[in-house]
Amino acid sequence: MPPKNSRPDRYALVGHPVSHSRSPLIHQLFARQTDENMSYELIDASPDEFETAALGFAAAGGLGMNVTVPHKEAAYELCRTHGKEAEAAGAVNTISFSKGRRHGDNTDGTGFLRDLLGNHKQEIATKRVLMLGAGGAARGIIHPILGEGPTELIVANRTIERAEALLQKLGAPQGLSICRFNELDDVEPFDIVINATSAGLKGEQPPFPTSLVNSDTFCYDLAYSLKPTPFVVWADTNGAGYAVQGWGMLVEQAAESFKIWRGIQPETKPILSTLMKVAAA
Ligand code: NAP
Repeated sequence: MPPKNSRPDRYALVGHPVSHSRSPLIHQLFARQTDENMSYELIDASPDEFETAALGFAAAGGLGMNVTVPHKEAAYELCRTHGKEAEAAGAVNTISFSKGRRHGDNTDGTGFLRDLLGNHKQEIATKRVLMLGAGGAARGIIHPILGEGPTELIVANRTIERAEALLQKLGAPQGLSICRFNELDDVEPFDIVINATSAGLKGEQPPFPTSLVNSDTFCYDLAYSLKPTPFVVWADTNGAGYAVQGWGMLVEQAAESFKIWRGIQPETKPILSTLMKVAAA
């Protein structure tokens, strides 16, 4: 361990927007819990600025970066080597620059499953699952979801070409199909509906058919906010049994990134509870 008065190791989150992010607080809490000497900053970079921002941070001594909306696919291209989940997804949310490397991992799937299965005690096996959105976050969680053995997984996206590219990247596995939002009109209610669109970040809620949910449906919004997110409001208004935000996934995926960078698995439960108290204050 470096002496306490040495300069902290630098990490960051790059995205657009990033000002709402709680990742600096989460990593600060992990660092305190595990006695690691590190800092974590926010870098707002548009798609045109992403590569310069990421490589500039590495050149300035940054050891690792988390990547968020809308850069996860660009981050995959930037990395020279990839972990198994990042390779399957074609999307990266965790970059490691140490020892001159440019290595990409994807911890979204692990974070999502730990929250849904562990914290919320849900099961995916033999369930019908709908994913709304086909961006970088969706890419990261689809492969792990399929590994849990759902009866079917439908990915619906506004831009069908993006869903098609995702299907191709995953090798069109059995049980996975894609469609446009307006093709969901006559579909039976799902057991689990996951919102992986970023529409809520702009306060928008796409007009999904209300028939997608009933009182047995578990709705999971990857987005998180102090107020109910537009998707959670939509799910509650339309009679879904449960509707939760992605706070738990945020902490779990961060813990996995922290482990990749620092080699230590932090305890997530106390951090999630501190985060919720600080966020609500
Ligand atoms: P992204 O790569 O930019 O993808 C955005 C997705 O949202 C695309 O499928 C896009 O559809 C869709 N979309 C955006 N605006 C829309 C609108 N008005 N109507 C319908 N669809 C719309 O973003 P991402 O990285 O996948 O992130 C998606 C969300 O997940 C964000 O809210 C992010 O904060 C959240 N997230 C949370 C966690 C967590 O730990 N809780 C982790 C990862 C991500 P098109 O393809 O048609 O553009």
